[in-house]
Amino acid sequence: MGFRAMVCHRFSKLVLLSAAFISLVVNAAPWPDGAKIAVTLTFDLDAETIWWNDADTMTGNPGSLSYGTYGPKVAVPKILALLEKHDVRATFFIPSWVAEQYPDAVRSIAAAGHEIGAHGVRHVSPLQLTPEQEAATFSESVRVLDRIAGKRPVGYRAPSWAVSNATLKLAARAGFLYSSNMMDADDPYIHNDPPGLVELPVSWVLDDAPYFWFDEDSWNKTIHSAASVKAIWQEEFEAAYHGSGYLNLTMHPQIIGRPARLLMLDEFIGWMKRHEGVWLTTGSAVAVYVRGQQGRSP
Ligand SMILES: [Zn+2]
Repeated sequence: MGFRAMVCHRFSKLVLLSAAFISLVVNAAPWPDGAKIAVTLTFDLDAETIWWNDADTMTGNPGSLSYGTYGPKVAVPKILALLEKHDVRATFFIPSWVAEQYPDAVRSIAAAGHEIGAHGVRHVSPLQLTPEQEAATFSESVRVLDRIAGKRPVGYRAPSWAVSNATLKLAARAGFLYSSNMMDADDPYIHNDPPGLVELPVSWVLDDAPYFWFDEDSWNKTIHSAASVKAIWQEEFEAAYHGSGYLNLTMHPQIIGRPARLLMLDEFIGWMKRHEGVWLTTGSAVAVYVRGQQGRSP
């Protein structure tokens, strides 16, 4: 895996991994105010970009595309109301094409105090782009989100978590503070290459899509009940609460925004908040904190 510096918060140590797997405990770093766990609720607002048959022409089946429309049109206002009810700030990763199509939705998200992160332009996988094309998407998405949301994004989630060999370096070069794409850790950590880029790791088990995203082409995906997913996420929370101390949920408004699923999310957030020492916050808040812990003495 090469040399990499990782700041592991819950276990209060800085572990330096080399080819010889030498580790060194140098730091004590609990979450702010003695919190036992940091939880980030993230929403990838993909809108119609997932259902295009052709991203260049942006054409597709109107019925399928309407599922994407459900996100900004129906789900976002309900999600914002739910987050407001719980007084929780979340993170929305938004392709810049979506921001241009639905500027009012983006402004309402920003106005409510939530973070807006970058998520490509038209949700094209970076694996399909040359480094030059990928660099151009970083530039365009930052420029558009800055203009519409009134703030430059500092967090980057690649479309479909599809990270190319160039992605992380390009993200750092574009000035991003953190990435939320990798599955090689439970805790946030700091990349050694590119140096300083914070990673907020993700996991399929903490994503709504594997459970709820029906595949209309193959019909080979089963839709799960909201209750069964709540049980899984509660298990994950309990394990993280007593273990790693970090939970990063990836959700999609067009998926989690269905009425019964939002009811589940409402109950799940309320249930988490009843635990002592839960820091429900944005990705940028966690990343800033993690970056601030780098190199601190015990
Ligand atoms: Zn997406």
